[in-house]
Amino acid sequence: MKFIADLHVHTVASGHAYSTVLEIAQATAAKNELKMIALTDHGTKMPGGPHSYHFANLVAIPERVSGIRILKGIEANLIDLKGTLDLEKQYLERLDVVAAGLHAFCCPVGSSKDNTTMIVNAIKSGSVDIIVHPGNPEFLIDEAAVVEAATKFDVALEINNCSLTAARLGSEAHCHHIIQLAKVAKTKLIVGSDSHFAETVGDFGAAAEILSDHGIPEEQVLNTSIERLLSHLNRRKNRNHLVTF
Ligand SMILES: [Zn+2]
Ligand SMILES: [Zn+2]
Repeated sequence: MKFIADLHVHTVASGHAYSTVLEIAQATAAKNELKMIALTDHGTKMPGGPHSYHFANLVAIPERVSGIRILKGIEANLIDLKGTLDLEKQYLERLDVVAAGLHAFCCPVGSSKDNTTMIVNAIKSGSVDIIVHPGNPEFLIDEAAVVEAATKFDVALEINNCSLTAARLGSEAHCHHIIQLAKVAKTKLIVGSDSHFAETVGDFGAAAEILSDHGIPEEQVLNTSIERLLSHLNRRKNRNHLVTF
């Protein structure tokens, strides 16, 4: 499977990531594999993370840096059972990519039922493009219910490479199960590096391997085609602009 974009990348603004936008763009260009990345720094509730105006002012970053198309995004935290995101609507609508998920320090670690409710409500909200690392064993969910909601409301589920290599240990079995369910339901999938350092942008090896174990076709994975990716992002109605390449 050949990937053309990484929509899960952190910069120094996240507070616990270690590269600047320029370093990330230069490192990505040097690898000569990806055409596009999304900056998805953590939402405002992450300790040490950015405040709302960080996201409001992303317009300061050019559309292309070192030849790489830079999408402006967020990895928002779900902060309550309603699936509320930790960024105001007027700033969310300016972003090209809204990814969202459950994180320690940012939302109550609930029961599987509570975690599922938070994610399903975020999916239904119409504000989210991608649910990140749904296979995280720290926040158990009803995987069938989340896959069903993602399919129905046309939200992509992420297979997070970092979950299979460096963080959220124990994710693998959950990722396998989610992929199995998604294969049957034809749910949109996306692979994210969750890079916190410039040189790991576009590292998809472990995630790509389990997609291939399940025989997931390229057409089901958003970041294998610019057209597929843009068409997914542009389906979100509460954005005030079209996302282009
Ligand atoms: Zn995350
Ligand atoms: Zn992340």
